[in-house]
Amino acid sequence: MELTNDKTLGEQLSEQLLENPKNAALLMSDEEISTADSFCEGYKAFLNKAKTEREACAEAIRLAVEAGFKEYDPEAEYRFGDKFYFCNRGKSVILTVMGEKPLAEGIRLAAAHIDSPRLDLKQHPLYEDGELALFKTHYYGGIKKYQWTAIPMSLHGVIVKADGRSVTVNIGEDEGDPVFCVTDLLPHLAAAQMKKPMSEAIKGEELNLLIGSRPFKDDKASKKVKLNIMNILNKKYGITEHDFVSSELEIVPAFKARDLGFDRSMVASYGQDDRVCAYTALTAILGCDKPRHTCMTILTDKEETGSDGNTGLNSSYLPYFIDDLASLEGLKGHTVISRSLCLSADVNAAEDPTFSSVTETRNASKINYGVVVTKFTGSRGKSGTSDASAEFVGKIRKMMDDGEVIWQTGELGKVDAGGGGTVAQYIANLDMDVIDVGVPVLSMHAPLEVTSKLDTYMAYKSFSVFFED
Ligand code: MN
Ligand code: MN
Repeated sequence: MELTNDKTLGEQLSEQLLENPKNAALLMSDEEISTADSFCEGYKAFLNKAKTEREACAEAIRLAVEAGFKEYDPEAEYRFGDKFYFCNRGKSVILTVMGEKPLAEGIRLAAAHIDSPRLDLKQHPLYEDGELALFKTHYYGGIKKYQWTAIPMSLHGVIVKADGRSVTVNIGEDEGDPVFCVTDLLPHLAAAQMKKPMSEAIKGEELNLLIGSRPFKDDKASKKVKLNIMNILNKKYGITEHDFVSSELEIVPAFKARDLGFDRSMVASYGQDDRVCAYTALTAILGCDKPRHTCMTILTDKEETGSDGNTGLNSSYLPYFIDDLASLEGLKGHTVISRSLCLSADVNAAEDPTFSSVTETRNASKINYGVVVTKFTGSRGKSGTSDASAEFVGKIRKMMDDGEVIWQTGELGKVDAGGGGTVAQYIANLDMDVIDVGVPVLSMHAPLEVTSKLDTYMAYKSFSVFFED
């Protein structure tokens, strides 16, 4: 190597041979930083509108229609440039932009999930105890239960009534709405509770939601607080207690997405796993116009419970859909699937300086170091993962670098510290090349999760670049 300036050979060799990661804020121009900040205004608005998988699906479709997408018609013929969406049971959606190349050359797929950890109502939720009205809940996804007490909660979902008609519920989000909460013990009387391990301090059956306290005025009726609540619900929604058996009601934190930090560099919000990747993969497909390969964003449900179920990616709804598209060009579905590439768009755990003992710093993702590329997830000896090939990592790496995406790699914690999975393995099992790409998150699965605006913007940029492949 030649000495080209006044740096020593060691300095030059260090620059050329060694990795030298930098904070994205130091690499990006002021203009691009402000573009990233404005991008996250749209992201926060999405978070506030889309607090459940159903709401995220509806909001994604609303934005898609605004961007010129039409509802998928199995009878229609699709050509280069056509944009359409397929909604699966109101809880997941596939957005497609037809490419210039035939489908035989494969699809570029970004897959994010729109379900988040929360509390679901049981099928017989309503009861009265100690002259208070409460809902029994069953938590959904992996939560630290103690985090879900003593914070304002809202109620979202649908109730299908005896006559088959469905009502939509969304209460606790508007300024004037009431909220709900799971109560916790005061410290003065929590001596025994505080000695318990955190996993037992609040038990699943203690996640009871407080919803009312005033009795119905009547001398003879019993359980008058419960009756009063049921009477209010009957007037508002036309339901009776038995209608809860055919409902899906979800309790989520009633917080709004907010800027975090004096420098407003981060977003604090519920549900960023994985709506941060859902929003970025969505905006990338909405901005995708006349791509070379056919491009697709899938926003799926049920990832947090293992992807099983007919709206989760362990089901056949994605291969069925691709099969239908393939048949339009006289192809078999598996021909298209086997030649397709996928970015499994999901978050990773950002290194937390307060809890750095669980991460291995050379291989952990960091806030503000860009979008995270994760070669494998899983736990123990790489069980429960797909592990992308060196060839595919090489392709994605080059794509990111050529597209000026700031990116980093990250493993989910130290070896044997725990682990987790994404939808990548289910997509890989279809015979597709897939790798995890997403945003680093602090306090993942907590009622309030934290992401960096620059990382979020880089995720959007990475999906956009992928769709240009
Ligand atoms: Mn996730
Ligand atoms: Mn998760």
